[in-house]
Amino acid sequence: EATAKAAAANADSGAPTIFDKIIAKEIPSTIVYEDEKVLAFRDVNPQAPVHVLVIPKLRDGLTQLGKAEVRHEQILGQLLYAARLVAEKEGVLDGFRVVINSGPDACQSVYHLHLHVLGGRQMKWPPG
Ligand code: ADP
Repeated sequence: EATAKAAAANADSGAPTIFDKIIAKEIPSTIVYEDEKVLAFRDVNPQAPVHVLVIPKLRDGLTQLGKAEVRHEQILGQLLYAARLVAEKEGVLDGFRVVINSGPDACQSVYHLHLHVLGGRQMKWPPG
């Protein structure tokens, strides 16, 4: 039952997420990069010396990559390019990883599309 509850808590309900509060600056975050469309801030639970989340400021139905539609093509490209800018700013252009967890089987916990930019240590493959 505990597992079922955890799964339910991690379902894609379309409800607002904590990232809306971060975008609105109602809760603090350490911003690494920002433009009109994209916000990048440090993950509170870093899995590497560099761990930055890159998100669209307007979620527009993009709760997860698995829900992307053709109208999202432009923002998806902007997010990936912002990830590269973050990697450069953080000094990890020699090696970094970009991860998108989409849906419960991938352990997505916040349903506002986000790219994880990870670097600053040797990465292993395959990921878990
Ligand atoms: P997971 O939680 O399994 O990594 P996600 O891919 O949905 O799944 O990642 C959500 C990320 O958001 C986590 O790495 C978590 O540490 C991060 N996070 C949650 N709340 C905050 C916050 N207030 N500020 C910064 N990062 C946050």
